[in-house]
Amino acid sequence: MGCADWLIVGAGFTGAVLAERIATELDQSVVVIDRRAHVGGNAYDRLEDGQLVHQYGPHIFHTNSEHVWTYLSRFTEWRPYFHHVLGMVDGRLVPVPFNLNSILALFPPRMADRLCEALVQAYGFGQRVPILKLRTQESRDLCFLAEYVYARVFEGYTLKQWGMRPEDLSPSVTARVPILVSRDDRYFQDRYQAMPRDGYTALFTRMLDHPRITVETGVDFRDAITTVPHGRVVYTGPIDEFFGYAFGPLPYRSLRFDRRREERASGQLAGTINYPNEFDFTRITDQRHLNGNLDCAPLLTTEYPEPYVLGANEPYYPIPSKTTSALLERYRAEAARLDGKVFFAGRLGDYAYYNMDQACARALSLFDKRIALFAASSLSADAQAGRIVPAALSR
Ligand code: FAD
Ligand code: UDP
Repeated sequence: MGCADWLIVGAGFTGAVLAERIATELDQSVVVIDRRAHVGGNAYDRLEDGQLVHQYGPHIFHTNSEHVWTYLSRFTEWRPYFHHVLGMVDGRLVPVPFNLNSILALFPPRMADRLCEALVQAYGFGQRVPILKLRTQESRDLCFLAEYVYARVFEGYTLKQWGMRPEDLSPSVTARVPILVSRDDRYFQDRYQAMPRDGYTALFTRMLDHPRITVETGVDFRDAITTVPHGRVVYTGPIDEFFGYAFGPLPYRSLRFDRRREERASGQLAGTINYPNEFDFTRITDQRHLNGNLDCAPLLTTEYPEPYVLGANEPYYPIPSKTTSALLERYRAEAARLDGKVFFAGRLGDYAYYNMDQACARALSLFDKRIALFAASSLSADAQAGRIVPAALSR
């Protein structure tokens, strides 16, 4: 194999977008590797008995970015899909994010009206209020509501999902699912909400189908760095792993998925049902809703959060908190020293809790603002001559 201009580590959204951009816009050669046996990263899906299955948990596409939407639409057609989530609260299934309908379902009518009125007065109809913000309210009704929702919806779920309390995480984590001062029962309110018509893997296959792109699955960066001749590197794996955990491991959270087909059951009323306080799992998703096909047997995926153990399971979630930010900064400073030779990006490379559209937006922006700048200059001599081996990996 000749020397590829670029080695891209990871064939998830971040790696695939950057490979496509570099090949198409710069006409440079790219080898994309992934240590998994397939492309797509955590968004990978596959057919099982004619039904699409999301291998690494339910993935619903949603974005407010017209740029990301238009870009991805080159590689897929879409099926409109609005995801609905119900949460088990005091034995009832109510809409999540918690909204005015949830209040009306849970409280006696006069009390419900008063609580709805208090929320609308305080924030305005249509607003999104993070639970940690609502908890700073002093009015008697809102104080009551905040403690009720905190205890019934957020506290137990967050303890299960992260092994931490909501206030010990970055406030951005629970703010992803705010209290909605509206009667909009959808899980997301983004302008674009849809599923790729033929699935995510088909989208990735089209994105990577370019004469300047070679894909090698089942290959780890540790091996590729010596076996794949290359110039610059895009690295979308865990940033601490790249540097051999030189400053100690960053924390991640993992999940175990339990999947079962229920031939005789009628399935779930909504795509996902959350169990904030019951059981040791967090949520169950019925894939039929995501696939837009309620005629077949329910295919249920239950998510059991677990501690991340290196080599034993997957680092699905970076853990955004004050305590991790100092360690992360040390790794980022190391990454900055490789600037221009190795580009870090993605949920694991940036150690950021990105949704799919955010991973794409980050990759598109990295390409436009940094990588495309190298188009004018040919690859530097050092990149051509040798491989860029971080000290920790070359030991
Ligand atoms: P990844 O998809 O993680 O891809 C990184 C790839 O790098 C992996 O395939 C990995 O195998 C590979 N890799 C790592 N290290 C190495 C190495 N050393 N050598 C070779 N390969 C390596 N987002 C949404 O927008 N909507 C959702 O509904 C949604 N649901 C989610 C549900 C779950 C359970 C999880 C975990 C995530 C969910 N996400 C969702 C987030 C989504 O998965 C990510 O935003 C997206 O996958 C990020 O893409 P990425 O390319 O940065 O990372
Ligand atoms: N969350 C919660 N209860 C819920 C739903 C969400 O406490 O019923 C909190 C929890 O901390 C969770 C975070 O909000 O980790 C973000 O939820 P989201 O559904 O966005 O998580 P993801 O789909 O990324 O796992």
